[in-house]
Amino acid sequence: MKDRDSLKKQLAEHLTLYRDLGVRYVGAAPAARRARPSAQKTAARPAAPQPKPKPAPARVPAALRIQESPSMFAPGPAAGEPLAAIEAELKDCRRCKLAPGRTNLVFGAGNPNAELMFVGEAPGADEDAQGLPFVGRAGQLLTKIIESVGMRRQDVYICNILKCRPPNNRNPETDEIAACEQFLFRQIESVRPKVICALGAFGAQTLLRTTETIGRLRGHLVDYRGAKFMATYHPAYLLRNPNEKRKVWEDMQIIRDYLRSLRGPEE
Ligand code: URA
Repeated sequence: MKDRDSLKKQLAEHLTLYRDLGVRYVGAAPAARRARPSAQKTAARPAAPQPKPKPAPARVPAALRIQESPSMFAPGPAAGEPLAAIEAELKDCRRCKLAPGRTNLVFGAGNPNAELMFVGEAPGADEDAQGLPFVGRAGQLLTKIIESVGMRRQDVYICNILKCRPPNNRNPETDEIAACEQFLFRQIESVRPKVICALGAFGAQTLLRTTETIGRLRGHLVDYRGAKFMATYHPAYLLRNPNEKRKVWEDMQIIRDYLRSLRGPEE
């Protein structure tokens, strides 16, 4: 009974998220339909939802079209070093003014061989307390977003532009980004993901060296340093603007479909 209740609760949570993401129709899985042929024959079939015509693809902003150049990245010897070595170098970091205020440095977490890497902004209070990225409310939403496209959080790698919490969660400052970003670039070199997904304006603008708005950067999967790059809205922004969840879901589907396409047709 307890199992059933918790299953019901999980299902309700999933459906709520899907509704927030803008999903209007959930079909039965083909296997489930096959399992009940008589019910299928007798029940009146609901009209199949008509797919909406796709809008013409938006023009790719210039900031996203020049990212083949490798010049912004740490050259040669640093490429491909183990994450543990990068983390060890950061351990008692005092390179910027955020160091005295931190409880824990938040290096990053997840699969060191991930195909998908998320880059957020900076740790918040929960992350600072636990030393792990995206574990607060925004992090819980990120987990749901990942799962909503059939992926699992433990399969991706998650980190931030800044490894230490800015006071009162204020925006990262230029000198802090300058002191910290080499570690992010080395993390990217180490993990070598197939897709890098920047969460929010700071992640996107730092990686792309642009001041273009996140609203214009998001939604395009573009070449980036031998990988692909997608910017999307930050989960914390979605907590304040739930109507934008659908756009993030669409961005995540593009990523998911691209990663699937690399694996070829399924059995
Ligand atoms: N917001 C971020 O950008 N990063 C975190 O780790 C948590 C919240």
